[in-house]
Amino acid sequence: MSSFEVAVIGLGAMGSAALFHLARRGVKAIGIEQFTPGHDRGSSHGESRAIRLGYFEHPSYVPLVRSAYENWREVEQLTGETVLTTTGIVEAGRPGSQLVAGSLEACLLHGLEHELLSPAEVRRRFPAIELPDDYSAMFQPQGGFVRADLANSLHLRLARQAGATILTNTKVAAVEPQREGVRIATGDGTIEAGRVVVSAGPWITELVPDLMRYITLNRMVLTWYEPKRPELFGLDRLPVFAIEDEDDLVYGFPDFAGTGLKCASHYSSGRLPRADAARQDAGPTDEARTRRFLERHLPEGAGRLKAMKTCIYTMTPDEDFVIDLLPSDPRIVVASPCSGHGFKFASVIGEILADLSTGGATRHDISRFRVSRFDGSGAGGSGQPALGARGEGG
Ligand SMILES: Cc1cc2nc3c(=O)[nH]c(=O)nc-3n(C[C@H](O)[C@H](O)[C@H](O)COP(=O)(O)OP(=O)(O)OC[C@H]3O[C@@H](n4cnc5c(N)ncnc54)[C@H](O)[C@@H]3O)c2cc1C
Repeated sequence: MSSFEVAVIGLGAMGSAALFHLARRGVKAIGIEQFTPGHDRGSSHGESRAIRLGYFEHPSYVPLVRSAYENWREVEQLTGETVLTTTGIVEAGRPGSQLVAGSLEACLLHGLEHELLSPAEVRRRFPAIELPDDYSAMFQPQGGFVRADLANSLHLRLARQAGATILTNTKVAAVEPQREGVRIATGDGTIEAGRVVVSAGPWITELVPDLMRYITLNRMVLTWYEPKRPELFGLDRLPVFAIEDEDDLVYGFPDFAGTGLKCASHYSSGRLPRADAARQDAGPTDEARTRRFLERHLPEGAGRLKAMKTCIYTMTPDEDFVIDLLPSDPRIVVASPCSGHGFKFASVIGEILADLSTGGATRHDISRFRVSRFDGSGAGGSGQPALGARGEGG
């Protein structure tokens, strides 16, 4: 039986980042992944993920996303690779859109650079985008995207270089707390660890059943199109965008990798009973949905369909994250339920998971992400005061 100070279960966005931060601190750490890293069965595949500072979900995310930007830049410095590209982001919506109102609130509260744009101004600057005249829109120059698959592989490369052990194609069957340490059962034997980070994405409830009643899994679909006028969809002409209309909230990315215009609805196309039920089964109904949206708002983008991928959102009831020491056993740190907006934070969540699994606390404010908020007890494993509800915190 091999033994480690910390074991990280699941090497998607969160686990790869955690393993890197543990290894760089000289912690004897192992990362265990059930598939080959880079697989397309969880939540972290599909080329790119949006990043933005003025955060419509809640202004209290802004300090954390600032730290995430810093940490992504550090990964770039360490590897010489481009991970984060700032194209700016256009967020637009029908009158009363929460997307625009929430981002504006966060920008004003935190003094972030932004411009309010009329639909005509959006069309003039970004000719691919068409908005009805009564829509509101804003542009945040710091917005952009993270190269998701690359970022995960770089975190793993850095972790390995710093001395981490990486075990792939090995499924953890159970996490069993012992008096001394935690036993991790796999098909190939057991591993002992002082502490465990469970970053198993949509599989998390299999290892932490305490979370079962709070988590739901949403089937999501990513689509790539060959634009009818490619010259409007390159990095030089189109920023990342998110548009909320009466029927849908769709976001998308310029064609930076020659793979086409990527876009996806933020709304689910169905619930999954468990992560293993997900299939790469995107079909004509899924495609029709994004095509309809493109025809309304980016009509020159709605060319030939190039590719589709399904992916999973791991949702909490309030759509905030869960990052905490498990109240029933603080040697177990849980992360992953990120409600479909966690990737941009992976670089800082990795740091936080390393903090929690080595020292039990972190300098970052993660009080919003406690497990105990769901049962109303307010008792948190990580010992920080809870932020107020939406509109009170910040
Ligand atoms: C379609 C889509 C679009 C998104 N867009 C954005 C975006 O634009 N911006 C943004 O910030 N976020 C976005 N997100 C959210 C973000 O991608 C996720 O929050 C993030 O990738 C979750 O990473 P994770 O490491 O928690 O999960 P995963 O990537 O699923 O990783 C979990 C890993 O654990 C492994 N594992 C599970 N169980 C076991 C076990 N028992 N033993 C061993 N290994 C195990 C799995 O195989 C998997 O590799 C999007 C998500 C989706 C699905």
